Formats: sequence, C-alpha cells, structure tokens
Amino acid sequence: MASRADQTNRQLNRVLCYSNTGAASPSVIIIGGGMAGIAAARALHDASFKVTLLESRNRIGGRVCTDYSFGFPVDLGASWLHGVSEENPLAPIIGRLGLPLYRTSGDNSVLYDHDLESYALYDMAGNKVPQELVTKVGEAFKSMMDEANQVRAENREDMSVSRAISVVFERRPDLRLDGLPHKVLQWYLCRMEGWFAADADTISLKCWDQEELLPGGHGLMVRGYSPVINTIAKGLDIRLGHRVTNIVRRYNGVKVTVEDGRAFVADAAIVAVPLGVLKSNCIKFEPRLPEWKEAAIADLGVGIENKIILHFREVFWPNVEFLGVVAETSYECSYFLNLHKATGHAVLVYMPAGQLARDIEKMSDEAAANFAFAQLKKILPDASDPIQYLVSHWGTDVDSLGSYSYDIVGKPHDLYERLRIPVDNLFFAGEATSMDYPGSVHGAYATGVLAAEDCRMHVLERYGEVDLFQPVMGEDTPAFVPLQISRI
Ligand SMILES: Cc1cc2nc3c(=O)[nH]c(=O)nc-3n(C[C@H](O)[C@H](O)[C@H](O)COP(=O)(O)OP(=O)(O)OC[C@H]3O[C@@H](n4cnc5c(N)ncnc54)[C@H](O)[C@@H]3O)c2cc1C
Repeated sequence: MASRADQTNRQLNRVLCYSNTGAASPSVIIIGGGMAGIAAARALHDASFKVTLLESRNRIGGRVCTDYSFGFPVDLGASWLHGVSEENPLAPIIGRLGLPLYRTSGDNSVLYDHDLESYALYDMAGNKVPQELVTKVGEAFKSMMDEANQVRAENREDMSVSRAISVVFERRPDLRLDGLPHKVLQWYLCRMEGWFAADADTISLKCWDQEELLPGGHGLMVRGYSPVINTIAKGLDIRLGHRVTNIVRRYNGVKVTVEDGRAFVADAAIVAVPLGVLKSNCIKFEPRLPEWKEAAIADLGVGIENKIILHFREVFWPNVEFLGVVAETSYECSYFLNLHKATGHAVLVYMPAGQLARDIEKMSDEAAANFAFAQLKKILPDASDPIQYLVSHWGTDVDSLGSYSYDIVGKPHDLYERLRIPVDNLFFAGEATSMDYPGSVHGAYATGVLAAEDCRMHVLERYGEVDLFQPVMGEDTPAFVPLQISRI
C-alpha cells in the first residue's frame, strides 16, 4: 500500500500539470502574518503548497507582539493562554517549547480571568477596599448577570449589557448597590469591558456569553507569546513590508498587489488581516465582495484595549496579581496587572479599554504613561517614577485598527461565521472569523488551520483530486508534552 507521503506527492505532481499560474506546485498567497496567517501558511507549506505570505509590517505576529527593550520579554498584545489544557490547539507547541505559564485563574469564566482573592482594590483616596467586600460584590455581579440573562430570555429585542443591568435593578431593587459597593461593582464592569475591549453600553446582551471557553483557566505566557509564532513561522516564505492594497479574483486564480505596485499570483489566497483593516476598505477587492460578506464586516464590532507598561526600579506595591482603583463609573476605574508575580520583574501593566482606551490613544506616549502613573499614585501616593515605559496603539495602528472583535447590540453572533465563509478562491482567517473563540490567539490559530484545509480542498478539488485528501495538520504531531504551570 502506498504511504500517505507518496500519495500526496503523486497528487501534487498531477496538480502541477493543471496549475494555471505556471507555478511549480499549487500556490497560495496568505495576506497577514499574525497567528492566523502564519498557522495557515505553515499548514499549506507542510502540505507541499507553494506559499507566499505578504505582511505589511516589518515583523510577524500582528497582535502578538513581545517587546524585549526592557531586557526581558513583555507582551504589548496578547499575553494569556485562555484555556490552559490539552484541548487548547496551542498547547502542544507551548508544551514542546517548554514555555512556562503562570495561571491567574482556574475559572473558565468570561467575568473572572483572575481569582477574586488575587485583587487589591482601593478607592480614589487610596483607602483599601476590604477583601470581603471585593469578594461579595464579585459574587453579586455574577448574580446580576444571571438575572440579566433572565431578562434576555424574556425579551426578543437585544439590548446592551449596561441597559440589562439597569433593568435588573428595576426588577430587583435588593441587588442595587450604593456607596463603596457600587464603586466596586463599576470596577467589575470595567474588567468586563476589558474582556470585550468595549464599553458595556455597546456589548450585546444576547451574545455576551456566547463564546466558548476552553477548560483549564487562564495562564500568562511568562516568556512572552512571540516564541510561539516564531516557531510556527520557521522556514516559511514571508515577505515583510508588503502592504496589500488590491485583491483580484478570477476563476483560475488570484492576483494580489502591494502598495508599491508589485503583483503576486496564485491559485488562491487566504485573507488573514484584522477586521479593523477590512472595515477601513484599504484593501480593494475586485470584483467586490458579496453583499452578505460586506455586511458582516460592517456589522461585527471591533473593540480597543491597550497596554501601558511601566517598568520600575523596584517593587513597592502589594504582592497581588491585580491592583485596582474603584470609582463612580467604570470609565474612571482602572487596573494594573502585576507582572512581578508571574515574571519576577518590577512591571505593572495598565490596561484601558473601550472609550478610555480611545481617549488615551489621542495622547503622546509620554502623556499616556503619565496618565497611567497618575492612576497608580492615587492608590500608592509614595510610588516611585517608572524608569521605562511602553505604550500600545492598537486602535490607531493602521495594521490593526482595533484590538479584537466583539458582538455589538442587535447583531447576530453568526457574523463570525459569515466572515469566515470563503468567496470563490478567497479564504478568510483571523480571530474575527472564529465562532467559538473570537478575540483570542488560539482562536486565530484554529481559523488559520481551518482556512488552510478549506483552501487545500478547493485547489485540489478543481483538479479532481478529492479522493486523496488528508488533513493538513496533525498527522505527525508528536505526543503531548505537559504544560509547565506555576503560581508563585
Ligand atoms: C492588547 C491586546 C491584548 C490581548 N490579549 C489577549 C490574550 O491575553 N489572550 C488571547 O488569546 N488573545 C488576546 N488578544 C487577542 C489576540 O491578540 C488576537 O485575537 C490574535 O492575535 C489575532 O490574530 P490574527 O492573526 O487574527 O490577527 P493579527 O495578529 O492582527 O494579524 C494580522 C496581520 O495582518 C497584517 N496586515 C494588516 N493589514 C495588512 C495588509 N494590508 N497587507 C498585509 N498584511 C496586513 C498585520 O500587520 C498583522 O500582522 C489581545 C489583543 C490585544 C490587542
């Protein structure tokens, strides 16, 4: 019996004869070198396709961006593995690389990616909020969202999460909170807004809990996320500094043009650019994408979350995972991730989301760092000045134009699927095409693998080779290496 490799070679040799682009083997252009694009490129490269990846920036990784300028790794984009378990498609790679994870929560919840007892919250005057109150309000918030889901069940029309909370208060005045508990509640709302990168008055009640969470809780990538991408990208033909401006699709192939006018042709293309970039129309499709696809691009929300990373000479803050400032409104609340717990470095990460993130992006980096430091001073008046800082701009960066996708009020959750569905020989990948795991690195990875498989099927199918199809990934995956998880 012929081996699988022999079968694949025979299959490819036959495809060679039909290839319309004159290339040496079936060819694919991947647009975007984030996790989704790199995963797709890897899968098709390993299936012996000729793969060219066009990436606009001068680096790969996209919203995975580990910075080393402090002398150690810190992530300006993604930093958590959501779902620290074998079920996570990234677990085999992370395990094999021996990259340590610091588990911040064992909970598989959208509301709490940190355990409640790991917070130290303060009011604006620097008074510590009693820990029992933090836990009590955390539990009350859960009950409120349960009640809000009841409101959802009774209403056909969608509404925002903040509107639903107001309805809950009207129906259940006993759940209403005043004074300090109200401020703590606003802080939990602020954390939820961070999860969606959007304000609660824009988050859909119908969809807020529709994404799937893998088991195993949430783990910080202690040495940064980039090694994962770099490993997957090894040996691929990646053209950095190639900003795609035009995609022409014809029956027999695609032609992709970059900013300086150079053109690339292939049998098919995988579009793995961020939703924000698709929304901006800076890539022209010819012919235009169908109406249902354009509508999905327009209707799915894209939120903003940024990081202002402050590096200090030494640690002067309490030994907790999260420091927070509670306030009258979620907009005024803030929080800092204490990276010292996970990495041993004296670093705090301030993470604004939604409108606050948008407002801070209008500031200079220095002003943004001063703003974050001023929040810290409110709770720790004797805080010493940071020695270095880093500021992300995911909302205005032309290569992202947003941090990650989310469901806005009144739009169906299947927009993610509509974004994914191929159009002729154009395939789509990226976090915003993941029904189950949008807004995540593992979700982006899974969409890349799926788009690669769809693309491979499509290209080979045209040449009548369907009987020989095999999955593009997974055949040679070595045995699972356990993840290294700590909590210091
Ligand atoms: C601040 C922040 C924190 C986050 N935290 C987490 C977290 O802790 N855990 C988690 O799982 N997820 C997190 N995420 C989400 C996660 O980073 C993304 O879901 C994921 O990395 C998206 O991958 P992608 O491949 O879909 O898109 P991207 O990584 O954005 O890749 C798209 C690529 O396309 C390129 N591109 C854009 N335009 C063009 C063009 N015209 N031509 C060619 N190339 C182009 C871009 O430069 C980019 O490299 C976070 C995101 C942000 C911003």
